[in-house]
Amino acid sequence: MNMEGNLDTIHHLFSKHYKSEQDCMDALIAAKWPSGFVCPKCNHTGCSRLTSRRIPLFECGCCGHQTSPLVGTLFEGTHLPLLKWFQTIELFLLPDGISAMRLHKAIRVTYKTAWLMLHKIRHAVGEFDARERLSGDVKVNCDQYGTNPSRCQFPNPFASAVVVGCTVTESGDLDQIKIHLLLHKRGTGNRATRHELAAFINEHVDVETATVDAFPLAYKLYLPLRRVVRDAWESLKSTYVALGPKYLQAYLNEYTVRRRLHLPAARMTMHQKLVTMCMATPAISYNQLITRQPKLPLAIAA
Ligand SMILES: [Zn+2]
Repeated sequence: MNMEGNLDTIHHLFSKHYKSEQDCMDALIAAKWPSGFVCPKCNHTGCSRLTSRRIPLFECGCCGHQTSPLVGTLFEGTHLPLLKWFQTIELFLLPDGISAMRLHKAIRVTYKTAWLMLHKIRHAVGEFDARERLSGDVKVNCDQYGTNPSRCQFPNPFASAVVVGCTVTESGDLDQIKIHLLLHKRGTGNRATRHELAAFINEHVDVETATVDAFPLAYKLYLPLRRVVRDAWESLKSTYVALGPKYLQAYLNEYTVRRRLHLPAARMTMHQKLVTMCMATPAISYNQLITRQPKLPLAIAA
C-alpha cells in the first residue's frame, strides 16, 4: 500500500474553512458563545478582548473576571496547534474513522499524541452521547458483537454479548443507536439476561416518552438493528484491525455517534456538531484516560 499517496488524498479532505490558528479559534469562540460572550461568573455580556496571547482572554466588563474560550472544554491546556485538532476532527469523521498510526503520519505528531487526541475526542463523544437517552419508537435487541450469525460457531473468544437499542423515525429509518457491551460475557457465548435487558432500558431509554419493543430471543431479533451491530464490527475491524476489551465500549460509542452524524444533517454540519461536543466536555488527561476502568457490568453493579 502506498502510504504517501494515501496521505496526499487525506490532505485534500481538510476543510478550506480552517486554514490558520485564527480560523480555528474563531470557530471555537463561536461554538462556545453562539450568541456572543456571556460571563461565566455574572452572566454579563459586555467584555474586552485581550488579544496579545495565543489563546485570547476575555475580561468581563462588569465583574472583571477573565476567561478563555477553552476553559472547561476538551482543548483546555492543549499545547498543540488548533489546526491539528481541527484536522483530526475531520479525519475522525471519515466513514470508518482513522487509526492513531495513520493520524500520526497524516498530521505529523508522535504516535502517542495521535492516540491521545483520538481518545480525547472519543471521550467527548461518549460523554455527550451518554446524556442523550433513546426516546420515541425504541427497539432493543439482545445480540452478540463480533460473530457472524450466518455461520455456526463455537463460542468465539472475542465475541461479546451486547444489548443494543435504537430509535426508529416515522419513515422507518434507524436514528440514534446505543450498543452496550457486557464484557463479563465475552467469549462465553452467553447472551444478555432479561435482567440485563431491563437494566439497559432503565439506563439508556427515556421510559417516560418511549414506546419500547424488546427482542430478547436470538432467533427473533429486530433485523435492521442486528445489521448495525454487524456493520460496527466490520468498520472497527477495517480501521483498528484488533481491539482489546479495555476501550471497546468507547470505540462502539464512537461508531454509533459517527453513524448518526453522517445522517442527513439539519442545522449544523457534522464538523460543527463534533466541535460542539468537544467544547461541552472538560479535558481529560492521559493518566485519567488509561486508568479509567470500563464500567461495571450492570448485573454486578446492581
Ligand atoms: Zn462577570
